[in-house]
Amino acid sequence: MKRLFGGEKSLLIAQLLDALAGDICPICARVSEAERRHLDLLLHEQVNDNRTREALAASHGFCPDHTALLLEVGGRGCHAKIALLYAAQVAALAEEVAALPDSGSANGALQTACPACANVARTEQLYVELLARRLAEPRFSQALATGPGLCLPHLREVYAHAAPGERALLRQMQAERLRALSEDLREFARKSAQVAQGVREPFGPERDSWIRALRLYHGDLKG
Ligand SMILES: [Zn+2]
Ligand SMILES: [Zn+2]
Repeated sequence: MKRLFGGEKSLLIAQLLDALAGDICPICARVSEAERRHLDLLLHEQVNDNRTREALAASHGFCPDHTALLLEVGGRGCHAKIALLYAAQVAALAEEVAALPDSGSANGALQTACPACANVARTEQLYVELLARRLAEPRFSQALATGPGLCLPHLREVYAHAAPGERALLRQMQAERLRALSEDLREFARKSAQVAQGVREPFGPERDSWIRALRLYHGDLKG
């Protein structure tokens, strides 16, 4: 059991290091991967699983965002799978609706407790704690310094879980990155204004500064 845990842990570390070398916030990247995999697994391996169906009936399905993502992940061929997955759930919902009270509180009936949101929260917590603990290791700090850095919500989370030494490192790295981004944004705006006046000065590394700025607030925003 211990060896299995060790294996899982090194897989998480490898996945986090991999995400740190990507072009969006590494925690957002891992969370986005995990939430798509969760829904993909559900549609392709668990539609006939009674426990999954019961859990979905109890949670009243997915939140609006994860319902849309379920359809996106499933693609065109997923309609029959959705029918299989939802049949029992909708039947249970019919009974709940039929039993709604005439007046007063319905005691949480019809409330959705999205299981994909719960999965996202668990994945997020796992990687936030892992990064906060490992931040000072050169392979992590170097990857974090050269990569796109953390989005604001994940900076807040990792910072909250980090020890003082790791906090100092994170603070310095992120502040430097933000100052550089601010310079890049000014440069991008300046060169763009010149283009409007017919002057063509080639764009450099500042060319994607606008999307990097937006990704500070929404880490896996598509450009
Ligand atoms: Zn993020
Ligand atoms: Zn959700």
